[in-house]
Amino acid sequence: MIKTRFAPSPTGFLHIGAARTALFSWMFSRKNRGEFLLRIEDTDRQRSKQEYVDEIISSLKWLGLEWNEIIYQSKRFELYREYAHRLVKEGKAYEKEGAVFFRYVFSRIEIDDLIRGKIIFSELPKPEDVIIKSDGSPAYNFCCVIDDALGGITHVIRGEDHIPNTPKQVLLYEALGFEVPKFAHLPMILSSEGGKMSKRFGAVSIREYKNMGYLPSAVTNYLLLLGWSPGNNREIIFLDEAVKLFDIRNVNKTSAAFSIDKLNWVNSEHIKNKDIDKLAEYVKVYLEEKNFLPKDISWDYFKKVVELFRGRINKLEDLTEWAYFCFYDDYSYADDTRKILERDLSKEMAALKDRICTMDRFDRETIETELRLFAKEAGLKARDLVHPIRVALTGKRIGP
Ligand code: GLU
Repeated sequence: MIKTRFAPSPTGFLHIGAARTALFSWMFSRKNRGEFLLRIEDTDRQRSKQEYVDEIISSLKWLGLEWNEIIYQSKRFELYREYAHRLVKEGKAYEKEGAVFFRYVFSRIEIDDLIRGKIIFSELPKPEDVIIKSDGSPAYNFCCVIDDALGGITHVIRGEDHIPNTPKQVLLYEALGFEVPKFAHLPMILSSEGGKMSKRFGAVSIREYKNMGYLPSAVTNYLLLLGWSPGNNREIIFLDEAVKLFDIRNVNKTSAAFSIDKLNWVNSEHIKNKDIDKLAEYVKVYLEEKNFLPKDISWDYFKKVVELFRGRINKLEDLTEWAYFCFYDDYSYADDTRKILERDLSKEMAALKDRICTMDRFDRETIETELRLFAKEAGLKARDLVHPIRVALTGKRIGP
């Protein structure tokens, strides 16, 4: 059975790059009806924090990347030490000053990377490495190999920054008598400026995107596009369909640049096209968490508001500004509205109001017909009335 894993270190929030790795690893296991393991690499007790573990877990769930099994490296130190001692007994490792060192028996190593093809390593930077540190904690390469092997991981899918670790891990697999898995190294995600993604270029953690009101389906859609494409110039796709079309051999070898504009576009498409009930449910929870919604808002009314704005926003956060007037009366007037309110139309507006209040039917078409008729009679253009009305009712120059 195919089994993949995602192995985050809980030393920070789940960021875009790691989420993309998790997604591709998850996709591969789903595509092959395999299993997906989540391994928390919390060996560094100083830098690992429970807060980060919780956040990584909730971000993965939010993205819809569920796992079959979860393990914590911090609970397995005894196991790693046992394997280290076995290597010592076999003369493949030795102890010195409380640490255990592994001696690489190096010869040329070749791996057939599922994404990058053949990678050949003809030397190692060091003849040996520590595998158990003097504080008793394991080194990354060592516990990673033990966990992948004992966990039955068939495919190790991770970022290409781990390529230099791969030959060391292969030698450890061999020394421990384990079968070497297949590897797939994903290209890096660069910032829009070309460098490493960092806070300097905007939000990096998944939870920030959740907070700004990106839909999880849009985030996974966008992350997929950073390295893979469904073909036929298609860009909007949901996970269940992507799983069917996914082939890891079609993942790009070159780095992808993160583009917030593209993500905004993908998000706006998902907002536009999502089932309205599901969208409104999500938006309601989202706005409630932001303490934005007044109490006792009717569901039907709320849904209408969402329907009205879904084609006009990039992210749900925009609603707190653009739909404010739908929920509150104390909206303020944007600076650019002043000019529109300059002309004194108070008499005409009062007459129009009477007219609208006495219409037989109150629907969009009747209102528009009456308004146009009224404008004509008053010697005005329809827009002379429409624009100030919009400003008066919404505080904004543009909007529905
Ligand atoms: N904890 C490592 C990381 O976050 C995992 C590397 C791997 O997938 O082997 O980069």
